Amino acid sequence: AIDVSEDAPDSLRPRPPVVTIMGHVDHGKTSLLDALRGTDVVRGEAGGITQHIGAYQVTLKDKSRITFLDTPGHEAFTQMRARGANVTDIVVLVVAADDGLMPQTIEAIHHTKAAGVPMIVAINKVDKYEANPQRVRERLLEHEVVVEEMGGDVQNVEVSALKKTGLDDLIEKIQLQAELLELSANPDRPGEGTVIEAKLDKGRGPVATVLVNRGTLRVGDVFVIGAESGKVRALVDDKGRQIKEAGPAMPVEVLGISGVPSAGDPIQVVENEARAREVAEYRQSVLTQKRTTTAPA
Ligand code: GDP
Repeated sequence: AIDVSEDAPDSLRPRPPVVTIMGHVDHGKTSLLDALRGTDVVRGEAGGITQHIGAYQVTLKDKSRITFLDTPGHEAFTQMRARGANVTDIVVLVVAADDGLMPQTIEAIHHTKAAGVPMIVAINKVDKYEANPQRVRERLLEHEVVVEEMGGDVQNVEVSALKKTGLDDLIEKIQLQAELLELSANPDRPGEGTVIEAKLDKGRGPVATVLVNRGTLRVGDVFVIGAESGKVRALVDDKGRQIKEAGPAMPVEVLGISGVPSAGDPIQVVENEARAREVAEYRQSVLTQKRTTTAPA
């Protein structure tokens, strides 16, 4: 989770949790992400257009929101963490009830524990005849993941991403976990965030999907992003809509960048373009230096 210690306690406002889904290949990460996306009440209003920008936010019936990182695979998680970008508040570990614990399941458990992030286990594919959720709970014990039925405090839920069962239960458990974490951020300061993914778009130029960590990012803001800089030309949300501003835990595409940054890079709004270029140039020079000093003789 993001460190908010610099902000005065009375400036902090509740913010949505940021959730990463991990698990073994083919256990249903993508299917679950798609199914959860379908629970968004705002998505219906927008006409069901989905943009894959590396993260999305669902708005629930009670108006609360959850942000999901939509980059399946553990690499993104470890890469971001290696770069000091601890954006994930909660990990949902997907385990297929027919397949049980597999190498990447165990790897995900290790990553999650190393990151000190709370975990919720989603036992998926319970619609299958071969499904054995109890066996999954037992096997988890061997890896010191003790679910509630086994006397521990790790929440678990039986789901079927295919039949879309258990999703409300999973969402409820995410909300419960988020409440325990008392997640908050100060929205009233210059925007700061983390790059989730970035690319060079044919028509739009460099585009970065940014998760706002704190403050508010607005159209027209001047910023530094990794070793690049820019001025926000447009902000596009996960429904493809142009928006004016993005607050904490909101994923948004940022246009108007000088070049393509890397996943895990920070973005910070700064006072003016001269300052933005100065910081970006300094970071460029550090990068170049690193490259030359690590190059083989
Ligand atoms: P990922 O590799 O973890 O992202 O897994 P996918 O979401 O791509 O799913 C792998 C396969 O499992 C696909 O063929 C899905 O249709 C199937 N699958 C996913 N969830 C379920 C489920 O709840 N029940 C059943 N029967 N199949 C599922």
